[in-house]
Amino acid sequence: MNNIIFIDDEINILESYKSIFKKNKPASKLLGLADEFLGESSSKAFDPFDEVDFNILTADQGLVGVELVKKMAEQGNPLKVAFIDMRMPPGINGLETAKMIRGIDSKIEIVLVTAYSDVDFKTISQEIGAHDKLLYLKKPFDTQEIKQIALNLIVKHRNETIKDDFISNVSHELKTPLSSIIGFYDLLREKSDTLNDKELSEYVNYIGMSAQIMKSLVEELLTSVEMKRSGVFLDKQPVEMIDFVNSCYKSLKPIFKDNENVTFSFINECTDEVPISMIDSLKIRQCINNLVNNSYKFTEKGFVELKIYQECEWVIVAVTDSGIGIPHDKFKNIFEKFFRVENEHHQIPGLGLGLSILKKIMDSHEALVCVSSVEGEGSCFELKFQLKR
Ligand code: ADP
Repeated sequence: MNNIIFIDDEINILESYKSIFKKNKPASKLLGLADEFLGESSSKAFDPFDEVDFNILTADQGLVGVELVKKMAEQGNPLKVAFIDMRMPPGINGLETAKMIRGIDSKIEIVLVTAYSDVDFKTISQEIGAHDKLLYLKKPFDTQEIKQIALNLIVKHRNETIKDDFISNVSHELKTPLSSIIGFYDLLREKSDTLNDKELSEYVNYIGMSAQIMKSLVEELLTSVEMKRSGVFLDKQPVEMIDFVNSCYKSLKPIFKDNENVTFSFINECTDEVPISMIDSLKIRQCINNLVNNSYKFTEKGFVELKIYQECEWVIVAVTDSGIGIPHDKFKNIFEKFFRVENEHHQIPGLGLGLSILKKIMDSHEALVCVSSVEGEGSCFELKFQLKR
């Protein structure tokens, strides 16, 4: 939630802050329909702020504000921006308030608001710290100014959080296989004389597997950066889909050797003998690999199935598993960059990039991707391509 707090001892100023963030949108769908019917909606100016949900909190004293910031942080719903008045008698002033708030939450964006110039900005930023998260605003201010500042700071806060999460996620994901490589390398070096052939080949295998995990993480990262920079370039060719999906199946089969509790099968239910679609086979192979790898990762026992079938003008490639499943309310998020479902399986390796890459590739093919899943029972991802007639 985009939580913003305003701390000011003057109640009328707090009220005016609240009114700045009141939505211009019609209060209900019914009103919206009435507007449309009467032809009034077109006369209203579009306001981008109406598209963002702000949660506005207010406090009439510094310490009350500090308590609110603390409470929200403890609830895991931290404030992102604090607008703080400089003079707030009889309580602590804005500078003290900002210092205490910064002590609770080092990431919060602080805007000090004042009608006076009692303390210069240099002193303020030295006292409060994190000067890149500190602004100084002179009263009287313009309502548009406050809205713009709030929105920009919310976006800045979000981007910094994504960047921090990204760095810690990538470091964590690379560290796990790296530690395993170093661990087995040390074992090989120290005990090479005493190890038998079976142990030797087992340790070398572990090193190879960990290196492979690191390689695919780095490849995902590079693909994602490349797609952002230059978009998705396709080399579309007519492809015979049954042979193509079967060859994906054959190349993926070896990964299932490591877990004998999961079966991996290929099913062809096409009505045409040679259904053809226009695809970039390298990129679609990457999508299918990603789906099967995910199913493998998130399925402890049962099955993973790669199926191809037809429906009207579509040829559909479906990857179904009997794994942990995905909560229904997360379906819309899993295709976002870096998104991973938070649950007890979070230690399973991954950067949350695979499905976002897949979605971009599918969109550029003008093809569809659908997901259905039941938590604890399994998931099904379907890639739908137009048949070439
Ligand atoms: P990664 O697998 O690297 O985490 P993805 O973008 O491929 O990233 O997937 C995003 C998230 O979607 C996963 O972290 C997981 O929470 C969920 N997910 C994807 N596929 C499956 C699946 N077959 N079963 C359960 N959860 C899945």
